[in-house]
Amino acid sequence: MEDLYSRKIDYLRLSLTPRCNFKCFYCDSGSCEPLMRNELSLKEAEVIVGAAAEIGCTKVRLTGGEPLIRRDIMEVCRMVKSVPHIKTLGITTNGFYLASAVEELKASGVDLVNISLDTVDPDVFRRVTGRDALDKVLSGIARAVQTGFSAVKINAVLLRGINDDGKAVAGLAALTERYPVDLRFIELMPAAVTGKDYLRSFVSRSAVFEALPHLEKNGAGCDGEGVAEMYRLPGAPGRIGVISPMSSCFCHRCSRIRVLSDGSVRPCLLKNNEYSVKGLSFEDTVRVLKEAIRHKPQDYKDGSGATGNAGRMKRIGG
Ligand code: SAM
Repeated sequence: MEDLYSRKIDYLRLSLTPRCNFKCFYCDSGSCEPLMRNELSLKEAEVIVGAAAEIGCTKVRLTGGEPLIRRDIMEVCRMVKSVPHIKTLGITTNGFYLASAVEELKASGVDLVNISLDTVDPDVFRRVTGRDALDKVLSGIARAVQTGFSAVKINAVLLRGINDDGKAVAGLAALTERYPVDLRFIELMPAAVTGKDYLRSFVSRSAVFEALPHLEKNGAGCDGEGVAEMYRLPGAPGRIGVISPMSSCFCHRCSRIRVLSDGSVRPCLLKNNEYSVKGLSFEDTVRVLKEAIRHKPQDYKDGSGATGNAGRMKRIGG
C-alpha cells in the first residue's frame, strides 16, 4: 500500500516480546512486566502478518526485546514464511542464543540475520549489556556466516566515550575484513536515553570517517533498504554502512510499519502515536493497519504528533 506521500509500505517489523536478557542502557529502561502480560500469541501474530501481506507487505522482520527468547520462535518463523506474498523474513537478535539456533532458523525460513554488537572489547561489552557474553555473540556471528543466510548484518550503535574512539571503531570494522558481513554504525536515537543524557551519549556519523580514513565508497552508495550509506575497507569481503537517522533523515525512503509486542501499531519509530490490533479479526486488523499507514508522518521532524521520546526500544523493536 502507498501512504499519503507516495511511499510504498511493504515492510512489517514485528516485535515478538519486550523481554530481553541484555540490559543495554540506551534501549532498555526499567521492568517490562506490564508489557509481558500482553505479548502477542502465535495466532495473533499470524493474523497480523496475514493482514500486513494483504495490504502489500512482502518483507517481515522479527524483533523484540530478544526474539530468540520466545519458546515458539521457530513456529513463528515458519508461520511467517507460510503466509502468501511474504517473500523475505529477517530477524534481529542480540546474538546470545544464535550459535545453537542458526540451522533451525534457516530451516524455518529465515533469510536475513541482523546481530547487534556495539563493541569487541569484553569489558565494554559487559558495561553496555550487563552480560559477560561477547564470546557467545561472536560465535553466533561466525555460525550465522557459515550457515549461508542471504545476508548477515551487524548493527553497532555509536555511543560517546564507549565505542566512538578510533580503536573501538576500527576493532568493529575489522569484522568486515574477517567475514562477508555488513557492519552498520547507527546514530543513537532518543529512546530510553533522552534530554541531557542523550546529548551526552550521542555521536555523529563523522566519528566513523575519522576513525576509518581509508573507507572506499561502495557501488551505488546505499544498501537495499536505502537507509545505510555503504563503504568498504580496501580488500575487505564485508562492507561498512553508516545509518544516520539524526544527522540526515531518510524518512522519504521509509517503507516500514511496526507492530509492537502488545499489538500496538506504530506508523513512525520516532513518534509516539499508536493504534492497536491486539485481538482483532483479520478484517479489522487490515482496516487498522491501513488507518495507521494513512497517518504515517512525512518525516519524524514534521511537527505532528508527539515526538522526542520514542519510548523504550525494547518494546518497539528498533
Ligand atoms: N534484542 C534484539 C537486538 O539486540 O538486536 C532486537 C531488539 S533491539 C531493540 C533492535 C536494535 O535497536 C538493536 O540493534 C539496538 O542496538 C537498536 N537500538 C536500541 N535502542 C536504540 C537507540 N536508542 N538508538 C539506536 N538504536 C537503538
